[in-house]
Amino acid sequence: MRKLCILAIFVCCIVGCSIGTVDASLSGSFGIATATSNDSAKPVARKTFDVEIVPREKWAELDIIMSKITPMGSNNPIKITVHHTAEERDNAKVSDAEHMRDIDRYHQKERGWACIGYHFVISPNGTIFQGRPVKYQGAHVSKHNPLNVGVALMGNFETSKPSNAQVASLKRLIKGLQLYFNIPKQNLYGHRDLGDTLCPGKELYKIIQQIKNSY
Ligand SMILES: [Zn+2]
Repeated sequence: MRKLCILAIFVCCIVGCSIGTVDASLSGSFGIATATSNDSAKPVARKTFDVEIVPREKWAELDIIMSKITPMGSNNPIKITVHHTAEERDNAKVSDAEHMRDIDRYHQKERGWACIGYHFVISPNGTIFQGRPVKYQGAHVSKHNPLNVGVALMGNFETSKPSNAQVASLKRLIKGLQLYFNIPKQNLYGHRDLGDTLCPGKELYKIIQQIKNSY
């Protein structure tokens, strides 16, 4: 039987969240090593990442369980996989930041992972949240996590369509990641391309195909 990404969680709490810009050239919250000049066999990644992101520090309450984390490795990511969170929720009662904390808590405490499995999550208003720092391997596609950046959109896109703001942010984020890490443009996947799942839902999957066909 096919499975959706995660179970629905409802928490009624309104928490604000500010937006910041993550400079990926800094090896901090976003950071991952880029190729160096004495490593000429590898492509040299661009050192700018000008996509506005809400850093993990702005929303997270839980610490990453470092004993469970796996570094992305010495190579840059080579692919991007898009998901939906498959949740139905009341946007008026649950803030985006609280939604992020719900997913983080669920993935850590129920699934037993280091922290949220996705590297980025895009809310209905187009805000892009940093999930798990890209310098760490994600937990979002069984057997395909190494060198794979996981991007999730909040919502269930088997039954509805992502907002225009979400789609616009998804396109900006994908382009930014592809440029920064030199990820081949065709290495963009929906979760269903790599596993037995409905994720990211048929409506979002159509958009991923449109993005791939626009190159
Ligand atoms: Zn998925």
